[in-house]
Amino acid sequence: MSDELRARCRALKALVGNTPLLGIRCTWGGRAYTIHAKLETLNPTGSVKDRMALQILEEAIESGAIDEESTIVEATSGNTGIAFASLGRALGLAVRIYMPDWMSRERKQLMASFGADVVDITKDEGGFLGSIRRAREDGASDPHVFLPSQFENPANARAHSQGTGPEILRQLEDQGLRPTGFVAGVGTGGTVMGVAEVFRPMGATVHPLEPSNSPTLRTGHRVGAHRIQGISDEFIPELLRLDELDSIVDVDDGDAILMAQKLSSVLGLGLGISSGANFLGALQVAREQGEGAVVATVFADSNKKYLSTDLFREESIQSDHITPDVELLSFSARRHDPRG
Ligand code: PMP
Repeated sequence: MSDELRARCRALKALVGNTPLLGIRCTWGGRAYTIHAKLETLNPTGSVKDRMALQILEEAIESGAIDEESTIVEATSGNTGIAFASLGRALGLAVRIYMPDWMSRERKQLMASFGADVVDITKDEGGFLGSIRRAREDGASDPHVFLPSQFENPANARAHSQGTGPEILRQLEDQGLRPTGFVAGVGTGGTVMGVAEVFRPMGATVHPLEPSNSPTLRTGHRVGAHRIQGISDEFIPELLRLDELDSIVDVDDGDAILMAQKLSSVLGLGLGISSGANFLGALQVAREQGEGAVVATVFADSNKKYLSTDLFREESIQSDHITPDVELLSFSARRHDPRG
């Protein structure tokens, strides 16, 4: 095992996680709510996926599955590729990314800027599933290829059972609070499964979220297009075990866009579309739980990778949208103070 790789890994560990927990105060239908959201935009590449990438790389370095000769090959809808491209480069490793060619241009440019080899996969070549197939083929034919396999690697969920979940608990505890619920949009399911491991034994409910206009979790396959990049791909990921979670929460993608726009224009929080969805999902769970609800979620990434998407266009309001009835008031922010 390489001391140099381990030393580089330690340096990265100091940069990833320990993000602030925001307490966002708002009203909805005349009632006051506070939603607790982890500001994952403050990770080195600006998304929650840095946690998963570093956990997988660290465990692979420790087990000897990665050495200096390794090439990291991953299929990804974006943030994962950016995280592996950056962190892999910081470790001195080569990175190849397969991704569907309809993902935003900014994501591809970012990965290429970290020196990664980015390969577009068209719809005809199988889109997302085609990307995964190509990565597996590389893994089977080249012994130097390391496949993080984010959709099935339990280290992905461990990033959240050891990081995100305990961090939220401590940050709530510092305020004299205990969580009653957690909501997260499902990409790989790593976030929601990892946090569930910590929260459910405490009696908190944990809810996977998906776009109402593409209910993959409810149907088992992709039924329609949606605009919440990073969640709800074309299948149910292996890491996700719905029988170990509470009810599925649905959010319309247009509503998610409107809420992400509102969090930005009213509170100055520049967030991606899945963060708007997660906030709306957390609000729905808080309303169901009623008095005393302490519901947490994650703001998975920032607005910067969405400049060419509908996030920066006018979104039309529909009658079932929640966002127009939500008034955002202010937010508190805290990191855990180890001195108590
Ligand atoms: N939001 C965004 C923007 C993402 O990139 C992802 C990860 N694909 C998620 C949410 C979902 O996270 P997870 O993979 O842990 O389910």
